Amino acid sequence: MGKKPDTGRNPSSKDLWEADRISQLHPIQQKDHPSAIPADPGKLDHINTYGSLPEYYIDQPFICRLCGKREIWRARDQKWYYEEAKGHIDARAVECHDCRKAKKQGNPVK
Ligand SMILES: [Zn+2]
Repeated sequence: MGKKPDTGRNPSSKDLWEADRISQLHPIQQKDHPSAIPADPGKLDHINTYGSLPEYYIDQPFICRLCGKREIWRARDQKWYYEEAKGHIDARAVECHDCRKAKKQGNPVK
């Protein structure tokens, strides 16, 4: 206790640098990386795809398409999104937390 959970909403430049670096590794290196989280294929049966299901999740840095803020979509959040929330496999993080929140409240950032 005491340490704030790292949600990826306000990543430090070191966090972003590390996430950028990992996202550029070869998939085999990513899969073996300590930050990778294995996927549970049994929870991905809602996904109809001719492609392959993910074998693991890895932190994904992205730039918000609305405000340009850089955030990290954490591997554990992806796992929750795909496996618990049954999100579409082609969905990607494209908007930051603040912009998504503003949208939900009906005040999209322009
Ligand atoms: Zn934003």
